[in-house]
Formats: sequence, C-alpha cells, structure tokens
Amino acid sequence: ATPTALLVGTGRGAQVGILIRGPEVLESTRRVQTVLLDKTGTVTSGRMQVVAVLPAPGEDAAEVLRLAAAVEDASEHPIARAIADAAREHAVAAGAAGEHAVAVGVLPPVADFANTAGLGVRGTVEGHAVLVGRPQVFVELPDALAAELDRERAAGHTAVVVGWDGRPRGLISVADTVKPTAAAAVADLRRLGLHPVLLTGDAEAVARSVAAEVGIADEDVIAEVLPEEKVAAVRRLQAQGRVVAMVGDGVNDAAALAQADLGLAMGGGTDAAIEASDLTLVNADPRLVADAIRLSRATLRTIK
Ligand code: ADP
Ligand code: MG
Repeated sequence: ATPTALLVGTGRGAQVGILIRGPEVLESTRRVQTVLLDKTGTVTSGRMQVVAVLPAPGEDAAEVLRLAAAVEDASEHPIARAIADAAREHAVAAGAAGEHAVAVGVLPPVADFANTAGLGVRGTVEGHAVLVGRPQVFVELPDALAAELDRERAAGHTAVVVGWDGRPRGLISVADTVKPTAAAAVADLRRLGLHPVLLTGDAEAVARSVAAEVGIADEDVIAEVLPEEKVAAVRRLQAQGRVVAMVGDGVNDAAALAQADLGLAMGGGTDAAIEASDLTLVNADPRLVADAIRLSRATLRTIK
C-alpha cells in the first residue's frame, strides 16, 4: 500500500496529522503499555553532520573520506547522506584535534554496491573493495582507532569505520541532534501511563547520551541491535505480557514495526516503515506519538 492508500481513520486524526490504517487499529492503541522509540530519525533529527575524519596511523584523511563517500553516495541512510554531502560540499575537520581540513570534490563511481540494513554499505571504488559501517563489522581495529572510537562515542557521536582491501583505514564521526520536542514527547508518553524505551542500532554510549537528554534512564535503553534484534526486543517484551508500540522511520525498523502490537511510522520516514505501520504521523514531531494514542483512545470511547 502506498501512504496515500492508507485509510484516514478519523477527520480529526487527519487534521492533526495522523493517518490510521483502519478502524481495528484503534483497539490496540488502548492496550499499549510500552513504547519503543527508535533513536535515529525518531528521537533525533537524523540530519547528521560529519564532525571528524580520523585516519588510522599511516592513512590519509582525504582518501578515507573520498572512498567512503563514493560508496555512501548510493545509500539513503542519514549517515550516508552526511558523509557524501561532507565530501562533496564542505571541508571537514580531520585528525583528533581537527588540525587540518579535507575536501574531496568529485566522487568516483561505485560498482557492486550493497547495503546491509543496520550494518553498513560496501562497494568497489577504483578497484578497492570498500566497506563503511558499524565498527563491529571489522574483526579488529588498530589500538589508535579503537581509542578514537571510544572518545567519539563518549562525546555522543556516532562513528563508523571505513576500510578497504580488508583493512580498517579510519573513522568518520557524525553528530546528530535531539529533536527540540523529543523530551516533551517522552514526558507526554509518561503522562499517558506509558513506559518509553529507546531502541537503536547505534552504540550504547551514544544511545545513553541521547536517552539522558530526553529523560529516559539507562535501564530503558536497548542499543547495538540489528534490525532482526529489534524484532526480538519487541517479541521479548510481548512474551513478558507487555503490549508494545514501536515508533520508527527506517528500513531497519520495518520488521519491528510490523511485529509490534501497534506500529507508528514517523512522518518523512521510509516507505518500508510506513507500509509496516498501523499509524503514520504526517510530520516528524515525536509529540504526535502521544497525540495519536490519546486521540485513538478518545475516538474509541466515542464509538463505544
Ligand atoms: P538506528 O537504529 O539508530 O536507526 P541503524 O540501525 O540504521 O540505526 O544503524 C545502526 C548502525 O549501523 C549505525 O550506527 C552505523 O554504525 C551502521 N550503519 C547503518 N547504515 C550505515 C551506512 N549507510 N553507513 C555506515 N554505517 C551504517
Ligand atoms: Mg531510524
């Protein structure tokens, strides 16, 4: 189904920016107890900026950025957009102290591009097999890179590793910003008696720093999960008898959105997320999550 094929549940729902797949959805909104919130694009803006390019010893920062950007140019992921844009448009800080700037300009073409949701991308650029992704995809990082990785994560930045021809060559660190209304959105959910939990494929330290900013405690953070582990997290809560809502925007969230008792897709999210969801919010304001649940409950009371 395309987003426009979604049934508009109530006149009021449409007015306030909530599309409901069908009237049967309303019933699930009444029973929801736990609300899993995806981090990137749901709680944060998902408009990431490259903050540093950190080459491994003996590697060149501009080359790390250039080859990574060539592959990421074929991806829609927020990290990919940040890297491709940085390479094309800006000079970005390189080195731990940002001691010099690199700019790349024209990106070389990529062949054999492949994207693995929640892990990263790979492709062949100028004869090199290039990999950009979650640090865990690299078996071993040089000590210097591992130390930089810890530092970037402690600063709340998401760092991805760039490697080619079987060797990690550097890190690219990106920063996201928490949406201005995210803390209020979490407070709204609590006022409805709901239990908000942050769910993300990103590193624990990054997740905790975002959680702290929006009023979610460390014990309510589930981090470093692959897309199928997001589904497992939903199932685990369901097995404990919880009725679970999941809020997300990405391809990596689609399976969890489908598994949840109530799936909510953020406005501006991917088609995959929208198609897997019961409710679609027409804009990216996370306060619409509580609004949607409150409105659906009120609509149900009116019908009954
Ligand atoms: P989230 O759950 O926060 O929305 P994702 O599941 O999309 O995050 O991504 C989890 C992790 O996988 C990212 O933090 C990153 O390390 C890696 N990753 C995913 N896609 C890409 C990409 N296109 N380029 C580099 N790394 C990626
Ligand atoms: Mg996301």
